[in-house]
Amino acid sequence: MSQMIRQYDLIEKVKGYNEKADIALLNRAYVYSMKAHGNQRRASGQPYLVHPLEVASILADLKLDDASIAAGLLHDTIEDTLATYEEIKDLFGEEVANLVEGVTKLSKIEFTSKVVEHAENFRKLMLAMSKDIRILLIKLADRYHNMGTLHHISKPEKRKRIAQETMDIYVPLADRIGLYSIKTVLEDMSFRYLEPEEYAKIEKRMAFLTSQSNLVDKVIADLKKHMKEFGIECSISGRTKTVFSVYRKMVNKNLTFDQLTDTVAYRIVVKDKKDCYEVLGHIHDIYKAIPGRFKDYISNPKLNGYQSLHTSVIGPFGNRMEIQIRTEEMHEISESGVAAHWLYKQESSGSSTEGTQYKWVRRLMDMLQNTDDPEEFLENTKLALFKDSVFIFTPKGDLITLPNGATPLDFAYDVHSEVGNHCQTAKINGRVVPLRTRLNNGDQIEIITSKKQTPSPGWREFVVTAKARSAINKFFRMQEQDEKIALGREILEKAAKREKYPFKEKELARVIGEFNMNSLDETYVAIAQGSLFPRQVFSVLFPREVEQLEEINTLPMSAGESKHVPSPKGASPETAVGIYGLTPGMSIHIAKCCNPLPGENIVGIINTGRGITIHSESCKNLEALSDQPDRFLPVAWGDEGMEDSGKVFQARLRVILNHEPGALSSFTTEIFNKGGNIVDLHIESKSTDNYVLRCDVEVKGLGHFRDIMAGITKLKCVASAERVAS
Ligand code: MN
Repeated sequence: MSQMIRQYDLIEKVKGYNEKADIALLNRAYVYSMKAHGNQRRASGQPYLVHPLEVASILADLKLDDASIAAGLLHDTIEDTLATYEEIKDLFGEEVANLVEGVTKLSKIEFTSKVVEHAENFRKLMLAMSKDIRILLIKLADRYHNMGTLHHISKPEKRKRIAQETMDIYVPLADRIGLYSIKTVLEDMSFRYLEPEEYAKIEKRMAFLTSQSNLVDKVIADLKKHMKEFGIECSISGRTKTVFSVYRKMVNKNLTFDQLTDTVAYRIVVKDKKDCYEVLGHIHDIYKAIPGRFKDYISNPKLNGYQSLHTSVIGPFGNRMEIQIRTEEMHEISESGVAAHWLYKQESSGSSTEGTQYKWVRRLMDMLQNTDDPEEFLENTKLALFKDSVFIFTPKGDLITLPNGATPLDFAYDVHSEVGNHCQTAKINGRVVPLRTRLNNGDQIEIITSKKQTPSPGWREFVVTAKARSAINKFFRMQEQDEKIALGREILEKAAKREKYPFKEKELARVIGEFNMNSLDETYVAIAQGSLFPRQVFSVLFPREVEQLEEINTLPMSAGESKHVPSPKGASPETAVGIYGLTPGMSIHIAKCCNPLPGENIVGIINTGRGITIHSESCKNLEALSDQPDRFLPVAWGDEGMEDSGKVFQARLRVILNHEPGALSSFTTEIFNKGGNIVDLHIESKSTDNYVLRCDVEVKGLGHFRDIMAGITKLKCVASAERVAS
């Protein structure tokens, strides 16, 4: 470090840009800091007070206001001494106290070993926590001075860790708020500790190149001479590039060490923009331009607002050299970014008569506090606010970002949907909190899970992330799915029991393939939904038995078809379905329009050449046949057709179910409990209030059917149920 700065020097520096500076305040802050830090010393052995003084001086270089300078002097007192926020507030006012406290909070962010992995989030956290832009500026000045004295830290690992932090966190932050001069030095200092050998090699090479016969001075003299001839008013300087910027250029341009010839940037600063292009024209006249190296950042500013003309030429001594041409304003902005930008805005607006150049900070603060439009703020400062995010720590110290308003439950789901689904308790900073608690920046969160815990429907109301919401919805969907699987299994088991087909679940593997299902679960769901009938399953498992049975028992599925039904062994002579009044051997089928049940009054209709159709006496289709009485055949259910025959008949229901969780399940369960077998189930329409279902049930007869109807109409979830024709 250069000469140790004194309070007197600091005051002079502040007076230099701010005539109205509150010198008494700065002196009181100085004395307070001195007393508070007492005998503390830095790693260098110097009194601790040197550090806050240097930090305040860096802030003065940035032309900051009194409160910032005072806070710079006090910035380590809350953290490292007995001083408290209250005390500082009493002595120096709330503004200064808030700045000091803000810096203290930033210092407490623990950069874990994960810093590289989570660098972007750490940077965002820093910005989010810097409610006042000055807090960040003070923190950057603090880091700037600490990097300058890093060589006093004895442990190499610690030096490296601090350097890495600087490179990953502070350099990009300085860049983002436009403090380019600070950024450039910070990255170079970091690089020195991160890649010491690389740094030393490049530094040596650069020293060699610049030591050659005062090249820089000669080039500047030559440039000055020419500019004078052209009558251009300008200032010319040659600045040795930093080791890091040379290194970066070598890496980016894939240059070898020997190709490294260009380590000085010459800078011509002129009055206005048109001069920039004029100078460029002259330069290209005097020296030979290297093709492809001209860049017009004036017409095309860099994203961070940087403006300049860059060109590379073969210089007066055969050396390659880079020349940057810009106006004074562009130069200021390239050095101190946002600061200068505001400074110029303010001067050109003509409203400033006080010459208080730190006003840009005030403007920034006003915008931070008053603007309702974050876009406007971003537009003006290029400082991201991250108002929409909250940054929180995992128990392992990872830093993650969640949307503003996120709860511990959102965090749990962010980790894994299983963690979310089983989230029982949440702790924030070690304290148990309700799951709906909104998270704050810097909170550390721990989730305690329990196997027994499952999502509750209320969770959907307070989670804010799409991830959490969709996982919770998925859980409830799966739960419904589980119900359907259980239902399908039950349907199949009951049907098997009734029809006496013994089978083991693993045998169903064959069925899965046969019907193009992907899994057993899918098969059960298909059965529950009625898209696969138990009988179809049995026809795969027991092909022979089912075939026999079909010959005897199965009725045509549609009215157009009919099938000859031979007399079953041991059945009554009339028919297979046990209907009296028919000639043995007659082809019969049960009308699909009314699906008459045993116990109902029925009538047979003769279809010439196609046998007899059995209708319910109340079937509406019969009206159309009233002029053909010769086709009516009086029939009746025989004993075999009555309810204990073991035969089943289909009845169709139309049911309106209230739209509520579990409704479908309790409806179908009730049918099972009454011994019915659902063979088909369709949702005909669905609204937010209810579902309209069409359900075909196999029953033994009318009595059985009425029993089922009585059961389901009692259910709370059933709004109405009626038997319908097909
Ligand atoms: Mn400090």
